[in-house]
Amino acid sequence: MNSLISLARPEIVTLKPYAHAVWLPSHTRLHANEAPWRPTRDGTRVGLNRYPETQPQALIERLASLYDVSSAQVLATRGADEAIDLLSRIYLRAGVDAILQCSPTFGMYQVAARIQGAEVIEVPLTRARGWGVDVQALLAAWRPGVKLVYLCSPNNPTGNLLDYAALEHICTVLDGKAIVVIDEAYIEWSGAASLARWLGRFQSLAILRTLSKAHALAGARLGALLAAPELIQLAKRVIPPYALSQPTIEAALSALEPTELRVSQTRLQALLVEKDYLRRGLASSPLVEKIWRSDTNFLLIDCSDAERFMNYSIAGGLIVRDLRANCALPRSLRVSVGSRAENDALIACVARS
Ligand SMILES: *Cc1c(COP(=O)(O)O)cnc(C)c1O
Repeated sequence: MNSLISLARPEIVTLKPYAHAVWLPSHTRLHANEAPWRPTRDGTRVGLNRYPETQPQALIERLASLYDVSSAQVLATRGADEAIDLLSRIYLRAGVDAILQCSPTFGMYQVAARIQGAEVIEVPLTRARGWGVDVQALLAAWRPGVKLVYLCSPNNPTGNLLDYAALEHICTVLDGKAIVVIDEAYIEWSGAASLARWLGRFQSLAILRTLSKAHALAGARLGALLAAPELIQLAKRVIPPYALSQPTIEAALSALEPTELRVSQTRLQALLVEKDYLRRGLASSPLVEKIWRSDTNFLLIDCSDAERFMNYSIAGGLIVRDLRANCALPRSLRVSVGSRAENDALIACVARS
């Protein structure tokens, strides 16, 4: 049996999915108990009175072309967060299975696993090597109940791209044994190529992408799970039938038009310049000790006085992310790169000791 299926919860493999109303745009819809009129201020193209197309074909094709994979390898989700939730529900049996993650990392992996009743095994990233992944420790921590192995590259909150030779080795050793989930929410800022190109090489690889960050659509909630068709088919059984709302579908289609993609690309480049500006400004603050290398749109900062940094920012009307509750980051804050005016405001807030 294909490992993507043999690793999955048996209930999901045998589940008879909900049969939603068929999508037949050429015909008048009298099969879904919808209202025949549109709400007065409905600005959508097809009407909010209608249930949206599930996994809209045009959107799936645009995402496949954007991420350079086939349509059968794409599931559109409500943000990458929903992809994490789906993977947890497909693969993790309560009280039996586990995930592996490299800490400190994105918080949703463990929340989704714990909601599912699964164990969380943490393998620390190596601070002394710029938060690199410890391949030997990770492989040693794997055991048969570990179904999902999360690797966030570039990693949130440390900001660094993970070493591709290390990731390749992990994918090679764990292929068929666990789903290796590479979260590329920030890949657009790194200049590195997406590892979606490895989908043909490794059967149990899954890639997470999102329009929330580089495409400025966090409010629309649109992400993508990229994986082998067998995994996409399992995920389609679990995702709610009308997960993506019509306004989201239309906003995403518009953001993925060639002209919009060019605008996005220009803005992305401008933000990288702005990131250097913010780095230089914050480096001159007496409250800042170290700013880590960043392959993302944020900076991880170690402070000499994080409490003051937070308080001065809040007093100036700005919030940054406090990471001090994480034992690996006792003096760290995470700052998103904003507009020039926003960055200047933050730099001014923390200019004094
Ligand atoms: C922001 C973020 C996500 C979630 O993105 P959505 O698509 O908005 O759900 C996933 N992974 C990482 C590492 C993130 O920082």
